[in-house]
Amino acid sequence: MSAGMVYLVGAGPGASDLVTVRGKELIERCDVLVYDYLVYDELLTWTKRGCVKTYVGKRSGYHCKPQEDIEKLLIQHAQDGHMVVRLKGGDPFIFGRGGEEADALLEAGISFEIVPGVTASMGTAASMGIPLTHRKDSSAVVLITGHEDPEKHETLIEWEKYAHLGATLCIYMGLTKLDPITKALLKAGMDPNTPVAIVRWATLPSQESCLGKLSTISDVVEKSGIKPPAMIIVGEVVKDAPKHSWFEQKPLFGKRIAITRTREQSSELMH
Ligand code: SAH
Repeated sequence: MSAGMVYLVGAGPGASDLVTVRGKELIERCDVLVYDYLVYDELLTWTKRGCVKTYVGKRSGYHCKPQEDIEKLLIQHAQDGHMVVRLKGGDPFIFGRGGEEADALLEAGISFEIVPGVTASMGTAASMGIPLTHRKDSSAVVLITGHEDPEKHETLIEWEKYAHLGATLCIYMGLTKLDPITKALLKAGMDPNTPVAIVRWATLPSQESCLGKLSTISDVVEKSGIKPPAMIIVGEVVKDAPKHSWFEQKPLFGKRIAITRTREQSSELMH
């Protein structure tokens, strides 16, 4: 039996047409698809007949399968000679434990390939019209975790370090910690008027967002009722969101439309 191979593939931020061409091709060809919570369902319909699809349900640290079991599963399928796609939301190497999976595969002598994806911060920035860098307002971007992981009770991030970088801060998995995060940034002397965007399900028709300032955003979120998973973007560049917000201004945004056709025909209409 020839040895199998594992592809760690980024599914992109949500919308099914934001996956890479290479990613789509691999999903269509694979024998086994092991996927996470954040992946948009439509991607799962691209597989060939007979493809074994296993949901391992990672959601911001709420793992339905322990990480070692996921690694064992990938190794086992590859040792059985299968072509395996390990599909992860966004990019596999950004808060996706892709590094750990690559290590496990290496140790087991399994060949692998990494296929990047559009990470959630980039998807969010695009759909909100927020330029993550800007000649005048931001010369750096920081991708940082807010540690919503229930296994980590203490936040290990020294927020004060990030308050004066002149950077746009993209905070993943941070919504439930929004209050302590904003307080820490304010305490470190960050301008209370710094604009902040909170975006849930960015790039999808179900996208929800709210805008505020560092000093007010916790209240805004509480009133709006936005729940995790969401992206937090902090920085001067967020001020452009209201004028660039092309996605939420689309005429059919937020509308549910019933299409009385087969799934294949309706997906053509959806785009
Ligand atoms: N590997 C992924 C990140 C996984 S961590 C990537 O590169 O994007 C999961 C966190 O990503 C969520 O808690 C949320 O903060 C963020 N996230 C993922 N998809 C998102 C989306 N469509 N909209 C907003 N935030 C998203």
